[in-house]
Amino acid sequence: MAAPPVVQSAVVPHDESTPPSSAEIAQPSKPLPIPPKPLPSPPTTEPIVAIRIAELTATAPVVVDAAGGRLRVSSVDGSLSDAPWNAAAPIEIQVHDDGWRVRARGAPDRTIASGELVINTPSGTGDPLMWNKKSWPGALRLVRTRTGVDLVMDVPMESYLPGVIAKELYGSWNPETFRAQAIAARSYAVVEEARWQGRRHYDMVAGQQSQAWMGATENPKAVAAVRETRGQVLVHDGVVVAAYYSSACGGRPASALGVVTDNPFHDIAPLRAGDGSSRTSCCQSTSVASWKVTIPLATIQSRVQSWGRGTGRADLAAAQVPTAIEVAHKNAANRATQIRLRSRTGETLTIEAEDFRRAMNAAGDAKTSLKSSDFAVRISGKNAELTGRGFGHGVGLCQHGAQEMSRRGHSHQQILARYYPGSTVVKAWN
Ligand SMILES: [Zn+2]
Repeated sequence: MAAPPVVQSAVVPHDESTPPSSAEIAQPSKPLPIPPKPLPSPPTTEPIVAIRIAELTATAPVVVDAAGGRLRVSSVDGSLSDAPWNAAAPIEIQVHDDGWRVRARGAPDRTIASGELVINTPSGTGDPLMWNKKSWPGALRLVRTRTGVDLVMDVPMESYLPGVIAKELYGSWNPETFRAQAIAARSYAVVEEARWQGRRHYDMVAGQQSQAWMGATENPKAVAAVRETRGQVLVHDGVVVAAYYSSACGGRPASALGVVTDNPFHDIAPLRAGDGSSRTSCCQSTSVASWKVTIPLATIQSRVQSWGRGTGRADLAAAQVPTAIEVAHKNAANRATQIRLRSRTGETLTIEAEDFRRAMNAAGDAKTSLKSSDFAVRISGKNAELTGRGFGHGVGLCQHGAQEMSRRGHSHQQILARYYPGSTVVKAWN
């Protein structure tokens, strides 16, 4: 995809004023290159999700270790004739023209001619394997790509989720917030797994284009929240809700369609902004309730041009210096959805508000990044002063608002009912 993803952590430092991850599900807003998929029915058994944890260049060796001292090596297509190989850890894997060269302690090197290699701990031990000084639950799959090697963890859903919510929320937050987040993250992951099945060698990345993932964790609140909500997903009209979420909605929620997805199947009541009247107090008492940045107009011009070049929008690529920046369209919750830029010569350009934010943030400059697309602009000399509310795309669950609700004694069911109106929590698998 041509549009650069927004990596929020690169522009906003992690401290107590911002969440450890803003749960940015920053899909570029260009149409997907594949036909949109309907939302899935709730699975009846626990799904295995495929999480890409790294994209490597082909030259670097991959070193995998295990606390138990042994690793099981197998190839997906069965080309390892005496597979699986129970090798002494750590093992070192390197991709060559004729296949994977695997080196293990006390054994001759082996070359395995296969597109995909699977590394697991021996069955029954339950130990996570180790890569890059971190522990990862599940089986590690190495996949050759055009540019190198992808590392993908195939992990049962319930083992995946603790490492998501431990990274998405502050450790000091309430258990009810963790439970609400666990159900939202599970629902989102179910939808992504169904969406990419048979289309791509992974379902999600470990990062803000999907959801954050730290691998294995012993964070007690995260582990408990996942265990207590095991198998529970949000359902609307018989299908699982793509439960997008973000850090702080600023009191003005966004609808999913056109903001985080172009899939019309995601345009359902739980993912629409509605009239927004009930959300205005949502996260207004939190530290991320409002923000202000000043950006030179010439900088806005160059960033809009760069965005236009990257996304094939010739009009934006040729943008003049703006002399006025207006909200061209708002949603039912009064959140800006489209921005209009006017120039001295009278030229006008329109851009989706979320794309405008991505265009501004693509440069990775923390001082001039926009925390949300919900803003108003005042021109002052050669600068634009942007005053905004909230942090993140504003679709679905508002993490700061959810924490406010649990602090006031609301249950995770009440939290989810507020942020995904019309949905119900269903136990899909045991
Ligand atoms: Zn909010």
